[in-house]
Amino acid sequence: MANNASNADNANNASNAEYAGNTDNAIVQPVRGTRGATDPGPRNVALDLQNPDILMPPDTDNGSIPNLKFPFAMAHNRLEDGGWAREVTVRELPIAKSMAGVNMRLDAGVVRELHWHKEAEWAYILQGNVRLTVVDSDYSVVVDDLKPGDVWLIPTGIPHSIQGLEGGCEFLLVFDDGNFSENETLLITEFMAHTPPSVLAKNFGIDAEHFANIPKSEKYIFRQPVPEPLDVVLQQLPDRPPALAYTWHASEHAPAHYEGGSVKTIDSRDFPATTLSALIIELEPGGLRELHWHPDADEWQYYLEGEARMTVFDATSKARTFNFQAGDVGFVPRTMGHYIENIGTTTMRVINVFNSKHCTDISLNQWMALTPPALVQGHLDLDDVAMASLRRDRRPVVPGTPPDKD
Ligand code: MN
Ligand code: MN
Repeated sequence: MANNASNADNANNASNAEYAGNTDNAIVQPVRGTRGATDPGPRNVALDLQNPDILMPPDTDNGSIPNLKFPFAMAHNRLEDGGWAREVTVRELPIAKSMAGVNMRLDAGVVRELHWHKEAEWAYILQGNVRLTVVDSDYSVVVDDLKPGDVWLIPTGIPHSIQGLEGGCEFLLVFDDGNFSENETLLITEFMAHTPPSVLAKNFGIDAEHFANIPKSEKYIFRQPVPEPLDVVLQQLPDRPPALAYTWHASEHAPAHYEGGSVKTIDSRDFPATTLSALIIELEPGGLRELHWHPDADEWQYYLEGEARMTVFDATSKARTFNFQAGDVGFVPRTMGHYIENIGTTTMRVINVFNSKHCTDISLNQWMALTPPALVQGHLDLDDVAMASLRRDRRPVVPGTPPDKD
């Protein structure tokens, strides 16, 4: 792990022999050439090894960019009967005011209670199989089964439930407000429990005694039998699909392939109901999500696999580099320049979620390629090779040399 990161860091760290020569038993030291000094401790070596670009920032880092990383591994985990849920919100990652995320596991049959909330909810299935139910304000009916790589979008205020199928499931939820809390949604049990029984009786036109056994408090996550197959359940309900589907079986659609990796775009062009958009980015070892920014959206990241680093650039010469592993959350505020680099020896995968319907970006390379060449050269004093490297076609990921394998 340490070797991978250290080797990839060599490009801007040529003289950090102590770290570059690190072995599994050695201890990484905050020394870069003639700068820095060893850390005699106390120190948390495991975290230092995971975050070499925090311990020894590239020389190009500068100024005070706020923290842009929070691992789900450090988020309070709410353990329930047959499942768990943890969240990274503005309380964990204060810069992320526009979006929050929840990572949830439901064992076979286990239900996330019928509920609603004021935030829109985007979901990505990580593992297993899951059933979603939705009823919207047109009284459209949705019951759908999703598998890894599929997504849904629940609009603001629309009631829904989630249930693990055979083998259980794990998924990621992203909400369009950083203030969201998974622990503060509106629940069917609590709505009923906090309505006078006489009103419940009048509302449903039956005696109050029929509501004597309703739960006094939330169920939230609770065990149920694995539900009947989808076609059986659909026969119990009216055939009344919504005008725009709330699920998108993205797993059935191929990504766009490039030298160095691939990108799957999930936005309102294919999934018209969605108000949040996403890229699923896969980088081969050494591959780079090219330098770019997003003109109209913040980027909420969830790392699925591998090891990455990202530098985020803002006005007044501010730049800060972060390292990421599977299960970490990253965030890029709107308009800030950034790249993502695979610094490991295996495939790196990350989800980027944007608080806009369409994925848009500005590529540094394409911008330069579509600007009068003399003007670009006059700014940057580039030689002919650099000018010839500019390209007008979209290539969101580019290849690179993977770190040396031992
Ligand atoms: Mn929800
Ligand atoms: Mn981006």
